Amino acid sequence: MQPFELFAIRYARNGPRTTGQNIIGGDIHETGSDLDFFVWVAKRSDRVFLIDTGMSEETARRRRDELIRVPADAVKLLDIDPTKIEDIILTHLHYDHAGTLSRYPNARFHIQDSEMAYATGRCMCSRLLRRGYEVEDVVHLVRCVHADKVAFADENAEITSGLSLHRVGGHTGGSQVVRIWTERGWVVLASDASHLYANVRNHAPFPSVYRVDEMMEGYATLHRLAEGSWDHVIPGHDPLVMQLYPAPSRELEGIVARLDEPPGARPSARSAT
Ligand SMILES: [Zn+2]
Ligand SMILES: [Zn+2]
Repeated sequence: MQPFELFAIRYARNGPRTTGQNIIGGDIHETGSDLDFFVWVAKRSDRVFLIDTGMSEETARRRRDELIRVPADAVKLLDIDPTKIEDIILTHLHYDHAGTLSRYPNARFHIQDSEMAYATGRCMCSRLLRRGYEVEDVVHLVRCVHADKVAFADENAEITSGLSLHRVGGHTGGSQVVRIWTERGWVVLASDASHLYANVRNHAPFPSVYRVDEMMEGYATLHRLAEGSWDHVIPGHDPLVMQLYPAPSRELEGIVARLDEPPGARPSARSAT
């Protein structure tokens, strides 16, 4: 099985925050981790997958996230033309994962049945549950359904050898994680199934949650899919990711991290090879 190269592209940040904003029951006065925002690229000679699409400038401004670069422009740093991307996996449809879809005119979007049902159904009558969604992003994806540009997954789905989708729910009605074969073994992109390392490692749920039971079960699923190695689980919003994983080149330090390399490798060591 040919391994994928796997990259995290950091495109926005949010902070300062309190522990109470990051963990249910956390201290609302204690300083907590900032959030970084990422999209991910899995690349191999035969296929390129973009995993999530980030948010637009307008959405970032309105929601007060600090946008560093629009992901559709950032992918060019990896020599990828966004208009030529054919496969985009959407872990879920929250505003910071499914914005700017029109920038990818040739893409087919891979999503769970249950996420589309959740984002267009009765749960969106709740202000609390819909607040993570931008309605225009959801409407755009509905238009894509009617234009044969959406591929639905039901629970577990192998998209190609070495890349599979797994519904975990919890955070939203149909959140999914992505398992990718790399040179260092299976790596599991948790996305918002675990915002921070602390959530999954301590079984301490993030406050943005639809079903706590599924979120807790999701932590166990992440561990199982990573074959019991926490080093092979990548949280969706943890600034530590950029510190732990090397950049593909000196120019991309602080912007792109290589997740197919073991954590802890120093960027300087990498660029020397
Ligand atoms: Zn989310
Ligand atoms: Zn998110």
